[in-house]
Amino acid sequence: MTRLFEILFPKYIWRIKTTEKKIYLTFDDGPIPEVTEWVLEQLALFNAKATFFCVGENILKHPEIFEKIVNLGHSVANHTQNHLKGWKTETELYLDNFHLCESSIVSIKKEKSNLFRPPYGQLKRKQASEILKTHKIWMWSVLTKDYDANFNEGRCLENAIKKTGNGSIVLFHDSLKAQKNLKYVLPKYLEHFSKKGYRFEIMEL
Ligand SMILES: [Zn+2]
Repeated sequence: MTRLFEILFPKYIWRIKTTEKKIYLTFDDGPIPEVTEWVLEQLALFNAKATFFCVGENILKHPEIFEKIVNLGHSVANHTQNHLKGWKTETELYLDNFHLCESSIVSIKKEKSNLFRPPYGQLKRKQASEILKTHKIWMWSVLTKDYDANFNEGRCLENAIKKTGNGSIVLFHDSLKAQKNLKYVLPKYLEHFSKKGYRFEIMEL
């Protein structure tokens, strides 16, 4: 099923077209010690790879965790330096912040990222057109709502499982706000789809 915003924003990537049992897990807003290291352990148990959309200021605060993500073979990507809201931020300022995050990534990984996800999914057209010159913009097809502490863990899991299919891009958060739901949902989610023969992959670009 194609949703309205996929038609409105065709230049963004909302899912990966594939007939293979592949799922693309993504974790936004880290890295932070309280959650990210736990996520890495869970992924390792299922031999799963994921893409981490990192906030630059968190990379600078926790470089050792960022390095660990990279060394374990996961993909790291740009989520702005300070988690800015695109619609409320002047384009020049927004792009500066995007580049700052890129510098934070390069300071440790020694290599640029080529993926970007706008915080809150917000991006003005001008911001998008500039970023698209160097980066692919990854959105998501499965919003787990892990960040919503009022959303019951069981329903969060059920919803995530129901909405996932071949080539889904699944949005989780390695953040304090999400940890209650994430710590319940992620192990069960990984187990559920592993048993069904799915693999968790990063996008080869
Ligand atoms: Zn975010």
